[in-house]
Amino acid sequence: MMIQDIAPRKLYNHFVPDYTPKEGDHVFSFKDGDLLMSFTEDKVCFPTVADYPSDAVKELVYLFSVDEEVFLLLRKEVAPPEGFSYQKLKVLRDKYFLPKEYVFAAFTAYQLNDWYSVTRFCGKCGSPNEDDKLERARTCPHCGNKIYPRINPAVIIGVTDKSTNKIVLTKYRTGFGHNALVAGFTEIGETLEETVAREVMEEVGLTVTNIRYYKSQPWGIASDILAGFFCDVTGDSQIKMDESELKYAEWVSPEDIVLQPLEYSMTNEMMKLFKDKGYKGTVE
Ligand SMILES: [Zn+2]
Repeated sequence: MMIQDIAPRKLYNHFVPDYTPKEGDHVFSFKDGDLLMSFTEDKVCFPTVADYPSDAVKELVYLFSVDEEVFLLLRKEVAPPEGFSYQKLKVLRDKYFLPKEYVFAAFTAYQLNDWYSVTRFCGKCGSPNEDDKLERARTCPHCGNKIYPRINPAVIIGVTDKSTNKIVLTKYRTGFGHNALVAGFTEIGETLEETVAREVMEEVGLTVTNIRYYKSQPWGIASDILAGFFCDVTGDSQIKMDESELKYAEWVSPEDIVLQPLEYSMTNEMMKLFKDKGYKGTVE
């Protein structure tokens, strides 16, 4: 179960121009990257339109819906309604909150909020941008330059060794403290397969072949679209770790894989696949 696996529910991300807020619509409000929410043990909720005064409601912009439930963004500083406080998004990632689709909605809203906040001014002429009337875009009224939401492609890589039935696990120096796989951003002018080969060489010094696509995952916290791949080591299988980026990189057998504490990430799903089925699970 990855963060976006919310079936039978579905997130509809198409923009609705001229949307009129309704009382029960959810409101996302961010402050310095933190999100306004209220939670108990395992349940999370966000304020609704009914919690806000009418002058704040006028400032709401349509984000998306999860089936019939609409989520809006408040782009103005307004005093939080009673019972709600600003929390790090990490809080949502580190605990299993219900409804699960709200966690995915919050990650997606974070990405859109970030995009709105970095597109306040036109990058070409410096004039203040305006919301486009018809689509999710920011338009410069002075020079006409138009900006769409930006998504950064990156790859997650399971490097496998068929002969020993092992996979390369890593731990990064900064940020997330749990086991991970080799990963990295796609450079301009590069195919995803070339990113896979380059990142594996840079981070663990291995040459790979038989690069095979697994699945993809939107990861709103970093504005990413992650593409998962498995590939086979070829030639020398001795790891030469990039110590500036990693603090750990080892060949690990299925039974020795320690998974991440939560199931939201594709990285964890790929590690779990190898833990359950070994190499043969990666070529099915
Ligand atoms: Zn401009």
